[in-house]
Amino acid sequence: VSRRRRRWSLAGLALAAAIVPASIGGSVAADGLELASDTTYTLDPAATVVRVESTLTLTNTVPDRVEGNVVRQTYYSGFSLPAPVGIADVRAVSAGAPLRTTVRLDPSGEFTVIEVELARNLFSGERTTVTVSYDITGSPPRSTDPTRVNPAYAAFLAWGVGSPGQVAVRVVVPEGFEVETLGAETERAEGLGVEVFTATEIAEPEEFVLFVSARNDAALDARRLTVGDAEFEVRSWPGDDEWAEFTARQVAEGVPLLAELIGQPWPVEETVQVRQAYTPYLYGYAGWFDTAAREIEVGEALDAEVVLHELSHAWFNRSLFAERWLNEGFAQVSAAQAVARLGGPAREPGALVADQPGAFPLNDWQNPVLEARSDEVAAREEYGYQASWWVVDAIADEVGWDALAAVIDAAARRTVAYVGDAAPEVDGTVVDWRRFLDLVAELTGSARAEQVLRERVVTPAQAAELDARAEARRAYEALQAAGRGWAPPLGVRRAMGTWTFTEAGALIDDAQRALATRDALLAVTRTLGLTPVAALEERFESAEGDLDAVRREVDEQLASAERIAAATAAEVADRSLLEQVGLWGDDPTGTLAAAREAFEDGDTALATRLADDVIGTVESAGERGRERVAIASGALLAALTATGVLVARRRRATPPPAPDELNPLP
Ligand SMILES: [Zn+2]
Repeated sequence: VSRRRRRWSLAGLALAAAIVPASIGGSVAADGLELASDTTYTLDPAATVVRVESTLTLTNTVPDRVEGNVVRQTYYSGFSLPAPVGIADVRAVSAGAPLRTTVRLDPSGEFTVIEVELARNLFSGERTTVTVSYDITGSPPRSTDPTRVNPAYAAFLAWGVGSPGQVAVRVVVPEGFEVETLGAETERAEGLGVEVFTATEIAEPEEFVLFVSARNDAALDARRLTVGDAEFEVRSWPGDDEWAEFTARQVAEGVPLLAELIGQPWPVEETVQVRQAYTPYLYGYAGWFDTAAREIEVGEALDAEVVLHELSHAWFNRSLFAERWLNEGFAQVSAAQAVARLGGPAREPGALVADQPGAFPLNDWQNPVLEARSDEVAAREEYGYQASWWVVDAIADEVGWDALAAVIDAAARRTVAYVGDAAPEVDGTVVDWRRFLDLVAELTGSARAEQVLRERVVTPAQAAELDARAEARRAYEALQAAGRGWAPPLGVRRAMGTWTFTEAGALIDDAQRALATRDALLAVTRTLGLTPVAALEERFESAEGDLDAVRREVDEQLASAERIAAATAAEVADRSLLEQVGLWGDDPTGTLAAAREAFEDGDTALATRLADDVIGTVESAGERGRERVAIASGALLAALTATGVLVARRRRATPPPAPDELNPLP
């Protein structure tokens, strides 16, 4: 469940309830007036009222006082009772006869006062029973007063007045309603088609407040809505068409806009319900999105940002980012942008101060247990929403929303942050704050994200991880530069991506050594105009563990290339006459060409053998020449010289250096 914090305070609700009976109760259970009461609140959805009936037994316990020859009598002519705002049909009856009542709104505007006039004065020791009844009709949607009564929803405060231990309160709700009570403890019972919540012998009636919230979603109005491929059902309280129309418009305009901003299509195939509900308010939220059930609930307020925030949770939820702050921050930044694009006010997150109240590392921000309401939880929630928004907004401001859309895309595809030459590998796990930071760094080049996370997101232990990461990233960047077109090996990229920086460091050192050998190889092959085996790069980049095998192979190629270099030097060297004679019938040039070909084909063994052949042939040429000369006559040699046979032999040119195949990138 993702939630959107209310921007206004709900504290007033509970507070008002707590204050009302205290200030009013005193006037009822006045000194000397003993009052026992039994009050029943019955929800009547057909009549859209809550029927209240209160039986009050009043006893005057003030003794008559004799002062000289005067008897001083204290009597009561009436009493007053508190009731919710929005009541009708007030009646008071005693012994079958109606009593006169007056109804007025308390100057605070938070409750109604019912004044009842007794049929006759109540003198010392006298007792009377009065039944007061009235209907709670509720206040219209979006009234400050929280009382609501409609066929789909009822919210009201139930309280009892009277002397300690002599007060009972009962709430009766027909089946079909889902009831939540806040405040005082009650006993719950079920049967005969109703649910009953009871508190009896209430010890401190002045402290007793019960807020009742009863919903029956089956009675909500419904309108279907198709927005592109997305299906919605907007469900509202009967009679509140204003809310239904407002919300439907936010959905119709907001969904395509959000999809465009976020760069991802609407991700929910099934119909999403958008329901009008008071329930989030009861827990301090403006709305929420149960992504598993595909149900959005938002309060009665006509607040575009709340609707858009909840809609954006279709993308930003636990299946996209692991941490709550990421999903809330992105949802809020998206909503604020969408509101501005739809012509609403462009809201920015409030600045955070160093010792912001309720501050804590956002990585510790979990969904609170809803029922565990406390000021501390409320302060954490308040801070969590503001700081999440601030963090994501700060990064978006730096790199631009389009760049962040690339991060969202990678998160949706669950691809790795450290990418090789090929398309990014799919990791498959939900992107957490670590990979988010890596994706931001790799895809947007953000310089600020790390600092922002240090300030507001990480715990002290995680800050140490950031230090290790910074060092590893420097080594990784050096490896990328040294690669000159060769991407870091898969094993290195994986270790970087999983923040196993010790392992990454070792693999990077290993890769650097392999690259140093490769550079030595390149130096030789460049001189020789040879192309090293292309598969080498592929093998380097795909290596998952140590690079011993790759390095061995590079070493072999280097050794072979060095032999070819030696063979080339030998083959092109100026030769003495005797050496030239010794080479008669041999073809070192052809053998050398064959060695080069074998090298480029990747057959280093053959290349080395052929190079050695060339060297061997050339080195032994002088000796063989001497042997041949010894056999032939001096005259023959002279004749050969004269006819210029040996003149035809020309020094072979050194091949021009080929472009550096392995250095295509700066
Ligand atoms: Zn949210």
